[in-house]
Amino acid sequence: MIHYNLKCNNDHTFNSWFDSVDAFDKLEKTKMLSCPVCGSDEIKRAIMSPQVSSSKTKQAVSLSKPASEIEKKISEARKKIESESENVGKNFATEARAMHEGDSPVRSIYGEAKIKDAKSLIDDGIPVIPLPWIKRQTN
Ligand SMILES: [Zn+2]
Repeated sequence: MIHYNLKCNNDHTFNSWFDSVDAFDKLEKTKMLSCPVCGSDEIKRAIMSPQVSSSKTKQAVSLSKPASEIEKKISEARKKIESESENVGKNFATEARAMHEGDSPVRSIYGEAKIKDAKSLIDDGIPVIPLPWIKRQTN
């Protein structure tokens, strides 16, 4: 299929799909094309302005791709972590410390922690990883 911008002798522009360049030529030669506005059969191919917008569209798609790839990865990681870990919510810091100190069974947990608490866990050598989708509390 080929897409053409067309123009009649009265300067009406429209566009249409054709099976091939030959198919267009044949329709044009036999005056089978007519303007949807005035019905004129004097139809010419117009300058292909859509080329500009289609390349712009392509560029926009390729520019937005990395972001959606990252979002996809984050969403996959989130599913994995949430299915394999226990959500301890706001008790995260307490639980992490209890596990580290042997007061609680060692397992994978996730939850919310205040930045101050997360920092002190790291200072004590307790491995915590900030998750991009967990909203951290600032105080
Ligand atoms: Zn026309």
